[in-house]
Amino acid sequence: MSELETLKAQALAAVSAASQLSDIETLRVRYLGKKGEITALLKGLGQVSQEDRPKMGALINAVKAEVDDAIVERRQVLEVEAEDQSAAANAIDVTLPGRGTGRGALHPVTLVLDRIEAFFKSVGFDTVYGPEIEDDYHNFEALNLPEHHPARAMHDTFYITDSVLLRTHTSPVQVRTMESREPPFRIICPGKTYRVDPPDPSHLPMFHQVEGLMVDETCSFADLKGIITEFLRVFFERDDLKVRFRPSYFPFTEPSAEVDVQCVHCLGKGHCRVCSSTGWLEVMGSGMVHPRVLEMSGIDSERFLGFAFGMGPERLAMLRYGVSDMRHFVDNDLRFLEQFR
Ligand SMILES: [Zn+2]
Repeated sequence: MSELETLKAQALAAVSAASQLSDIETLRVRYLGKKGEITALLKGLGQVSQEDRPKMGALINAVKAEVDDAIVERRQVLEVEAEDQSAAANAIDVTLPGRGTGRGALHPVTLVLDRIEAFFKSVGFDTVYGPEIEDDYHNFEALNLPEHHPARAMHDTFYITDSVLLRTHTSPVQVRTMESREPPFRIICPGKTYRVDPPDPSHLPMFHQVEGLMVDETCSFADLKGIITEFLRVFFERDDLKVRFRPSYFPFTEPSAEVDVQCVHCLGKGHCRVCSSTGWLEVMGSGMVHPRVLEMSGIDSERFLGFAFGMGPERLAMLRYGVSDMRHFVDNDLRFLEQFR
Protein backbone atom coordinates (compact mmCIF):
# COMPACT_ATOMS: atom_id res chain seq x y z
CA MET A 1 0.00 0.00 0.00
CA SER A 2 1.39 3.34 -0.92
CA GLU A 3 2.15 6.02 1.65
CA LEU A 4 -0.90 7.98 0.43
CA GLU A 5 -3.21 4.98 0.83
CA THR A 6 -1.92 4.42 4.38
CA LEU A 7 -2.45 8.06 5.28
CA LYS A 8 -5.98 7.97 3.87
CA ALA A 9 -6.85 4.80 5.79
CA GLN A 10 -5.50 6.27 9.05
CA ALA A 11 -7.36 9.54 8.56
CA LEU A 12 -10.72 7.88 7.73
CA ALA A 13 -10.40 5.46 10.67
CA ALA A 14 -9.62 8.33 13.07
CA VAL A 15 -12.56 10.39 11.79
CA SER A 16 -15.07 7.57 12.13
CA ALA A 17 -13.78 6.81 15.64
CA ALA A 18 -14.10 10.43 16.83
CA SER A 19 -16.74 10.76 19.54
CA GLN A 20 -16.48 14.49 20.30
CA LEU A 21 -16.88 17.56 18.12
CA SER A 22 -13.56 18.82 19.50
CA ASP A 23 -11.83 15.60 18.25
CA ILE A 24 -13.16 16.27 14.73
CA GLU A 25 -11.62 19.73 14.74
CA THR A 26 -8.30 18.33 15.92
CA LEU A 27 -8.34 15.78 13.08
CA ARG A 28 -9.22 18.43 10.51
CA VAL A 29 -6.19 20.49 11.59
CA ARG A 30 -3.99 17.40 11.69
CA TYR A 31 -4.78 16.28 8.09
CA LEU A 32 -6.20 19.27 6.24
CA GLY A 33 -4.89 22.29 8.14
CA LYS A 34 -2.18 24.63 6.78
CA LYS A 35 0.46 22.35 8.27
CA GLY A 36 -1.67 19.21 7.94
CA GLU A 37 -0.27 15.90 6.68
CA ILE A 38 -2.30 15.83 3.44
CA THR A 39 -1.58 19.52 2.84
CA ALA A 40 2.11 18.73 3.24
CA LEU A 41 1.86 16.13 0.44
CA LEU A 42 0.35 18.73 -1.88
CA LYS A 43 3.12 21.16 -0.98
CA GLY A 44 5.65 18.41 -1.74
CA LEU A 45 4.44 18.06 -5.35
CA GLY A 46 7.22 20.43 -6.35
CA GLN A 47 9.74 17.63 -5.83
CA VAL A 48 7.78 15.21 -8.00
CA SER A 49 8.86 14.87 -11.60
CA GLN A 50 7.05 17.04 -14.07
CA GLU A 51 5.71 13.91 -15.76
CA ASP A 52 4.15 12.35 -12.64
CA ARG A 53 3.02 15.62 -11.08
CA PRO A 54 -0.55 15.89 -12.56
CA LYS A 55 -1.38 12.26 -11.78
CA MET A 56 0.05 12.53 -8.26
CA GLY A 57 -1.74 15.85 -7.65
CA ALA A 58 -5.07 14.33 -8.73
CA LEU A 59 -4.59 11.35 -6.39
CA ILE A 60 -3.72 13.54 -3.38
CA ASN A 61 -6.64 15.90 -4.12
CA ALA A 62 -9.00 12.90 -4.31
CA VAL A 63 -7.80 11.71 -0.88
CA LYS A 64 -8.11 15.23 0.49
CA ALA A 65 -11.71 15.48 -0.77
CA GLU A 66 -12.57 12.05 0.66
CA VAL A 67 -11.18 12.91 4.10
CA ASP A 68 -12.89 16.31 3.99
CA ASP A 69 -16.26 14.66 3.17
CA ALA A 70 -15.76 12.16 5.99
CA ILE A 71 -15.04 14.99 8.45
CA VAL A 72 -18.13 16.99 7.39
CA GLU A 73 -20.33 13.91 7.65
CA ARG A 74 -19.01 12.85 11.05
CA ARG A 75 -19.34 16.39 12.38
CA GLN A 76 -23.03 16.45 11.37
CA VAL A 77 -23.67 13.14 13.15
CA LEU A 78 -21.93 14.36 16.33
CA GLU A 79 -23.83 17.70 16.24
CA VAL A 80 -27.18 15.90 16.09
CA GLU A 81 -26.13 13.63 18.97
CA ALA A 82 -25.08 16.66 21.05
CA GLU A 83 -28.44 18.37 20.43
CA ASP A 84 -30.33 15.25 21.44
CA GLN A 85 -28.34 14.97 24.65
CA SER A 86 -28.93 18.61 25.57
CA ALA A 87 -32.66 18.29 24.82
CA ALA A 88 -32.85 15.21 27.01
CA ALA A 89 -31.07 17.02 29.83
CA ASN A 90 -33.47 19.99 29.66
CA ALA A 91 -36.61 17.98 29.06
CA ILE A 92 -39.79 18.86 30.97
CA ASP A 93 -41.29 16.01 32.91
CA VAL A 94 -44.97 16.43 32.15
CA THR A 95 -45.87 13.84 34.79
CA LEU A 96 -44.56 16.01 37.68
CA PRO A 97 -47.27 17.66 39.78
CA GLY A 98 -47.64 21.42 39.19
CA ARG A 99 -46.41 24.06 41.61
CA GLY A 100 -49.85 25.74 41.77
CA THR A 101 -50.59 29.41 41.20
CA GLY A 102 -52.28 30.37 44.48
CA ARG A 103 -56.01 30.43 43.88
CA GLY A 104 -57.50 33.73 45.06
CA ALA A 105 -60.40 34.11 47.47
CA LEU A 106 -62.96 36.73 48.40
CA HIS A 107 -62.26 38.75 51.54
CA PRO A 108 -64.41 37.64 54.52
CA VAL A 109 -66.03 41.08 54.71
CA THR A 110 -66.90 40.83 50.99
CA LEU A 111 -68.41 37.39 51.64
CA VAL A 112 -70.58 38.89 54.38
CA LEU A 113 -71.59 41.87 52.21
CA ASP A 114 -72.60 39.44 49.45
CA ARG A 115 -74.73 37.41 51.89
CA ILE A 116 -76.44 40.54 53.22
CA GLU A 117 -77.13 41.83 49.73
CA ALA A 118 -78.44 38.46 48.52
CA PHE A 119 -80.96 38.25 51.38
CA PHE A 120 -82.29 41.78 51.03
CA LYS A 121 -82.48 41.46 47.26
CA SER A 122 -84.69 38.41 47.79
CA VAL A 123 -87.17 40.53 49.78
CA GLY A 124 -87.27 43.39 47.29
CA PHE A 125 -84.54 45.79 48.48
CA ASP A 126 -82.41 47.66 45.90
CA THR A 127 -78.70 48.16 46.61
CA VAL A 128 -77.74 51.85 46.48
CA TYR A 129 -74.30 53.45 46.74
CA GLY A 130 -73.25 56.98 47.58
CA PRO A 131 -70.15 59.16 48.02
CA GLU A 132 -67.63 58.45 50.77
CA ILE A 133 -66.73 62.15 50.91
CA GLU A 134 -69.85 63.86 52.21
CA ASP A 135 -71.03 67.26 53.26
CA ASP A 136 -72.03 68.09 56.79
CA TYR A 137 -75.68 68.47 55.79
CA HIS A 138 -76.16 64.91 54.46
CA ASN A 139 -73.98 63.25 57.10
CA PHE A 140 -75.40 65.00 60.17
CA GLU A 141 -77.96 67.75 59.80
CA ALA A 142 -80.48 65.95 57.59
CA LEU A 143 -80.36 63.05 60.06
CA ASN A 144 -81.54 65.19 62.93
CA LEU A 145 -78.13 65.39 64.60
CA PRO A 146 -78.03 68.86 66.14
CA GLU A 147 -74.91 70.99 65.92
CA HIS A 148 -73.75 70.20 69.44
CA HIS A 149 -74.16 66.42 68.99
CA PRO A 150 -71.01 64.63 70.25
CA ALA A 151 -70.73 62.56 67.02
CA ARG A 152 -69.94 65.79 65.16
CA ALA A 153 -66.86 66.50 67.27
CA MET A 154 -63.49 66.98 65.58
CA HIS A 155 -62.03 64.04 67.48
CA ASP A 156 -64.66 61.64 66.12
CA THR A 157 -64.90 62.64 62.47
CA PHE A 158 -62.31 63.05 59.70
CA TYR A 159 -63.02 66.59 58.49
CA ILE A 160 -61.61 67.70 55.14
CA THR A 161 -62.92 71.27 55.52
CA ASP A 162 -65.36 72.70 58.07
CA SER A 163 -68.30 71.32 56.10
CA VAL A 164 -66.80 68.42 54.09
CA LEU A 165 -65.88 65.14 55.73
CA LEU A 166 -65.43 61.39 55.32
CA ARG A 167 -68.87 59.96 56.00
CA THR A 168 -69.21 58.47 59.49
CA HIS A 169 -72.04 56.16 58.44
CA THR A 170 -73.86 55.19 55.24
CA SER A 171 -76.98 57.11 56.37
CA PRO A 172 -76.33 60.00 53.96
CA VAL A 173 -77.08 57.53 51.14
CA GLN A 174 -80.54 57.09 52.71
CA VAL A 175 -80.97 60.87 52.79
CA ARG A 176 -79.93 61.20 49.15
CA THR A 177 -82.35 58.42 48.18
CA MET A 178 -85.24 60.04 50.05
CA GLU A 179 -84.45 63.32 48.29
CA SER A 180 -84.38 61.76 44.83
CA ARG A 181 -86.92 58.93 44.87
CA GLU A 182 -90.67 58.91 45.24
CA PRO A 183 -91.84 56.46 47.91
CA PRO A 184 -92.60 53.62 48.27
CA PHE A 185 -89.09 52.17 48.10
CA ARG A 186 -86.86 49.79 49.97
CA ILE A 187 -83.07 50.04 49.78
CA ILE A 188 -79.88 48.89 51.42
CA CYS A 189 -76.72 51.03 51.33
CA PRO A 190 -73.48 49.11 51.81
CA GLY A 191 -70.12 50.85 51.88
CA LYS A 192 -67.04 52.10 53.69
CA THR A 193 -67.32 54.53 56.58
CA TYR A 194 -64.71 56.43 58.59
CA ARG A 195 -64.27 57.47 62.20
CA VAL A 196 -61.30 58.69 64.21
CA ASP A 197 -60.78 55.43 66.09
CA PRO A 198 -57.29 54.04 66.69
CA PRO A 199 -57.23 50.37 65.61
CA ASP A 200 -57.88 47.89 68.41
CA PRO A 201 -59.55 44.43 68.53
CA SER A 202 -63.00 45.93 67.98
CA HIS A 203 -62.32 49.25 66.18
CA LEU A 204 -60.85 50.37 62.88
CA PRO A 205 -60.70 53.92 61.48
CA MET A 206 -62.23 52.55 58.25
CA PHE A 207 -64.95 49.96 58.43
CA HIS A 208 -68.08 48.94 56.55
CA GLN A 209 -71.74 49.49 57.19
CA VAL A 210 -74.91 48.26 55.62
CA GLU A 211 -77.92 50.40 56.34
CA GLY A 212 -81.41 49.66 55.17
CA LEU A 213 -84.47 51.83 54.67
CA MET A 214 -88.04 51.09 53.74
CA VAL A 215 -90.57 53.87 53.16
CA ASP A 216 -94.18 53.00 52.44
CA GLU A 217 -97.73 53.96 53.39
CA THR A 218 -98.11 50.77 55.39
CA CYS A 219 -94.79 50.22 57.05
CA SER A 220 -94.70 49.22 60.68
CA PHE A 221 -92.37 48.18 63.44
CA ALA A 222 -93.79 44.66 62.97
CA ASP A 223 -92.46 44.67 59.38
CA LEU A 224 -89.07 45.76 60.70
CA LYS A 225 -89.03 42.98 63.30
CA GLY A 226 -90.15 40.38 60.79
CA ILE A 227 -87.56 41.24 58.12
CA ILE A 228 -84.66 41.66 60.55
CA THR A 229 -85.43 38.44 62.44
CA GLU A 230 -85.65 36.49 59.19
CA PHE A 231 -82.41 38.06 57.94
CA LEU A 232 -80.48 37.13 61.08
CA ARG A 233 -81.78 33.55 61.01
CA VAL A 234 -80.76 33.20 57.35
CA PHE A 235 -77.42 34.90 57.94
CA PHE A 236 -76.42 32.69 60.88
CA GLU A 237 -78.14 29.65 59.32
CA ARG A 238 -80.19 28.86 62.45
CA ASP A 239 -83.96 28.63 62.06
CA ASP A 240 -84.50 28.83 65.82
CA LEU A 241 -82.06 31.73 66.48
CA LYS A 242 -83.51 33.92 69.22
CA VAL A 243 -83.64 37.64 68.36
CA ARG A 244 -84.63 40.45 70.73
CA PHE A 245 -85.30 44.16 70.25
CA ARG A 246 -84.11 46.37 73.10
CA PRO A 247 -85.33 49.97 73.46
CA SER A 248 -82.61 52.44 72.57
CA TYR A 249 -82.06 55.96 71.28
CA PHE A 250 -80.91 57.29 67.91
CA PRO A 251 -81.54 60.88 66.77
CA PHE A 252 -82.91 59.74 63.39
CA THR A 253 -85.38 57.06 64.54
CA GLU A 254 -88.32 57.04 66.94
CA PRO A 255 -88.87 54.57 68.50
CA SER A 256 -85.40 53.05 68.29
CA ALA A 257 -84.16 49.58 69.16
CA GLU A 258 -80.89 47.71 69.44
CA VAL A 259 -81.15 44.23 67.96
CA ASP A 260 -79.52 41.35 69.84
CA VAL A 261 -79.15 37.72 68.80
CA GLN A 262 -78.70 34.75 71.03
CA CYS A 263 -74.91 34.25 71.37
CA VAL A 264 -73.87 32.11 68.40
CA HIS A 265 -70.87 30.87 70.41
CA CYS A 266 -72.46 29.58 73.65
CA LEU A 267 -76.03 29.46 72.24
CA GLY A 268 -77.22 31.68 75.07
CA LYS A 269 -75.92 29.50 77.88
CA GLY A 270 -73.53 32.19 79.21
CA HIS A 271 -70.08 31.60 80.82
CA CYS A 272 -68.66 32.78 77.51
CA ARG A 273 -66.13 35.41 76.49
CA VAL A 274 -67.77 36.21 73.14
CA CYS A 275 -70.97 37.50 74.78
CA SER A 276 -69.39 38.52 78.12
CA SER A 277 -71.52 35.75 79.67
CA THR A 278 -74.76 37.59 78.88
CA GLY A 279 -75.92 35.03 76.31
CA TRP A 280 -76.72 37.86 73.83
CA LEU A 281 -74.81 39.68 71.10
CA GLU A 282 -75.65 43.16 69.88
CA VAL A 283 -75.67 43.08 66.08
CA MET A 284 -77.72 45.98 64.78
CA GLY A 285 -79.40 49.31 65.42
CA SER A 286 -82.91 49.94 64.11
CA GLY A 287 -86.08 51.97 64.43
CA MET A 288 -88.92 53.83 62.76
CA VAL A 289 -87.59 56.80 60.78
CA HIS A 290 -88.13 60.04 62.72
CA PRO A 291 -90.92 62.08 61.04
CA ARG A 292 -88.65 65.12 60.97
CA VAL A 293 -86.02 63.16 58.96
CA LEU A 294 -88.73 62.22 56.41
CA GLU A 295 -89.95 65.82 56.22
CA MET A 296 -86.44 67.27 55.79
CA SER A 297 -85.99 65.07 52.72
CA GLY A 298 -89.34 66.13 51.31
CA ILE A 299 -91.44 63.09 52.23
CA ASP A 300 -94.94 63.59 53.62
CA SER A 301 -94.70 62.10 57.12
CA GLU A 302 -98.49 62.14 57.51
CA ARG A 303 -98.81 59.75 54.59
CA PHE A 304 -95.60 57.71 54.69
CA LEU A 305 -93.82 55.77 57.40
CA GLY A 306 -90.36 54.32 57.25
CA PHE A 307 -88.12 51.95 59.12
CA ALA A 308 -84.35 51.88 59.07
CA PHE A 309 -81.61 49.63 60.34
CA GLY A 310 -77.84 49.51 60.29
CA MET A 311 -75.25 46.80 60.83
CA GLY A 312 -71.49 46.33 60.73
CA PRO A 313 -70.26 43.66 58.27
CA GLU A 314 -66.94 43.35 60.16
CA ARG A 315 -68.83 42.56 63.36
CA LEU A 316 -71.05 40.03 61.58
CA ALA A 317 -67.97 38.44 59.92
CA MET A 318 -66.26 38.15 63.31
CA LEU A 319 -69.30 36.37 64.76
CA ARG A 320 -69.91 34.16 61.75
CA TYR A 321 -66.29 33.07 61.25
CA GLY A 322 -65.10 33.23 64.88
CA VAL A 323 -62.58 36.05 64.29
CA SER A 324 -61.39 37.55 67.59
CA ASP A 325 -59.65 40.70 66.35
CA MET A 326 -61.04 43.15 63.80
CA ARG A 327 -57.50 44.15 62.72
CA HIS A 328 -57.08 40.75 61.01
CA PHE A 329 -59.39 42.07 58.28
CA VAL A 330 -56.87 44.73 57.22
CA ASP A 331 -53.54 43.06 58.05
CA ASN A 332 -53.39 41.35 54.63
CA ASP A 333 -51.91 38.25 56.24
CA LEU A 334 -52.34 35.41 53.75
CA ARG A 335 -52.41 32.82 56.55
CA PHE A 336 -55.63 34.48 57.72
CA LEU A 337 -57.14 35.27 54.32
CA GLU A 338 -56.47 31.81 52.82
CA GLN A 339 -58.87 30.29 55.34
CA PHE A 340 -61.79 31.83 53.46
CA ARG A 341 -61.16 30.05 50.15
ZN1 LIG B 1 -71.81 33.49 74.53
